[in-house]
Amino acid sequence: MDAETLRQYLEYYQDLGIKTLYRRGPAAKAEEAGHGERWPAPQEPLFRILEDIGDCHRCRLHEQRTKIVFGVGNEQSKLVFVGEGPGADEDAQGIPFVGRAGQLLTQMIEGTAKKEGIPLLRKDVYICNVVKCRPPENRTPQPDEMEICGQFLSRQLLAIAPKAICALGSTAAKFLTQSKEGVTRMRGNWYKWHDIPVMVTYHPSYLLRAYNVGPKREAWEDLKKVLHFVYD
Ligand code: SF4
Repeated sequence: MDAETLRQYLEYYQDLGIKTLYRRGPAAKAEEAGHGERWPAPQEPLFRILEDIGDCHRCRLHEQRTKIVFGVGNEQSKLVFVGEGPGADEDAQGIPFVGRAGQLLTQMIEGTAKKEGIPLLRKDVYICNVVKCRPPENRTPQPDEMEICGQFLSRQLLAIAPKAICALGSTAAKFLTQSKEGVTRMRGNWYKWHDIPVMVTYHPSYLLRAYNVGPKREAWEDLKKVLHFVYD
């Protein structure tokens, strides 16, 4: 790769808000030997990103994880849901949103779609998280962990190029919109991640804990908005 192409790649990732880039072992060696690309190309396939993650030790979250939780669903989906990070069930299975909160998310997607006359199942959308390894005790990911791992989410979103993104909870909302507002104020409103509209709503695990029906009703309203925007 010549210096000009490299400069363009670096500018491109800087525009995405990615400040830290890592050399991949085998690919970097191949490039040094004159084969292959040092930097992943924009619009790369998802499997390339997964390959690049590898047995990732880039942040401290690798220490207690069982499985990396990359993402699941339709890679050509017009809608991507982004949560915070894996919990215990997700860590064990390597699949996002499979525990109680995940079951609620499935119900929300499929129930709302059915009610609104939109033929949509969970498998038709794409679901992933800001960080790919479970934070200990389900704590909130720290800013440096979000920055390091967030490069993979950014690349996933670019690869899928959905019509809209639904941010579930404050960690995903903050990462995608850079807003410092709380999720209660942000929910139900449209923001942008680059040119892609982002709808913010509550994380399903919050809805499981919520004592009154208000947030649940609001989350259903938010979902209705995003489903109609994407599928009408
Ligand atoms: S959270 Fe992300 S950056 Fe950190 S170790 Fe896991 S995959 Fe790597």
